[in-house]
Amino acid sequence: MKIVNIKSHDFKKVNLVTLKKGGDNYECSVCGCKGYRSPFQDNLTLTEKEFKKSLKCSFQQPISKRPKKVLIVDLKPELNLPEGTYDVVDCPAHQDKKFKHDVWVFNDARGEPCRILPHEIISKFF
Ligand SMILES: [Zn+2]
Repeated sequence: MKIVNIKSHDFKKVNLVTLKKGGDNYECSVCGCKGYRSPFQDNLTLTEKEFKKSLKCSFQQPISKRPKKVLIVDLKPELNLPEGTYDVVDCPAHQDKKFKHDVWVFNDARGEPCRILPHEIISKFF
């Protein structure tokens, strides 16, 4: 099982009535990954299979909905970016077209902004 933030995909509720155990099932309208959301949680639980599907998602947040800070984990070691909370920064100009809607944080070790993938973001603070 993997945990993803509800805002990291275009999740839509798929059950009409709240599940008997409480919570709801969601599906991303872009990549089709499915997950379960417990009551009052901002995160969804995905099976490994659904999580793999979610990694190919091309969903992009509008800039106005980009968080100010993010809590990130599960980063590739070569990024040299420790787990923790980071301020979101603007996309570097040379990357602007493709990735400007994505979440970027400043990487002190590299001295440049780096792009954070949706599954690396645990929480967003607006
Ligand atoms: Zn998706």
